[in-house]
Amino acid sequence: MACMDEKNTDVEHGERALRQVYTEELCRGGQVSFRFHSDSCIHCRVPACVAACEPGCLYKDAESGLVLYDTVSCDGCGQCLKSCPMGAISLDCDGKIQKCDGCIERQRAGKIPACVRVCPTGALYLE
Ligand code: SF4
Ligand code: SF4
Ligand code: SF4
Repeated sequence: MACMDEKNTDVEHGERALRQVYTEELCRGGQVSFRFHSDSCIHCRVPACVAACEPGCLYKDAESGLVLYDTVSCDGCGQCLKSCPMGAISLDCDGKIQKCDGCIERQRAGKIPACVRVCPTGALYLE
């Protein structure tokens, strides 16, 4: 929710949250329990999405190590979506790439990412 708020994700018009939380139901010895996965782009060291984008919208930022993008030359071809093993890329309502950018603007302003800020257990953190 914090991510959607931070990024103004337009879920009402079909945009996908940049961070997804999945629930896994486990059943052992008659006991049911739940495990949760919080997934977004993991900012790969060698990002397949960067290699897949012919117009060069995606790039590995040398300073932060984050995989960032610009939408100006994005033509919505979807090649990056197919290349990402995490399923971490989607298109916005304008047909342009959207993915986690590590809240780079917040970080440049000396703040931690929105998802990290609200995580009550410390499962999300910034190295
Ligand atoms: S979008 Fe996918 S392939 Fe690209 S850096 Fe993130 S996890 Fe890696
Ligand atoms: S959808 Fe945009 S960012 Fe993704 S590969 Fe195509 S042009 Fe590049
Ligand atoms: S770092 Fe920012 S953009 Fe990435 S998942 Fe967290 S809140 Fe969303």
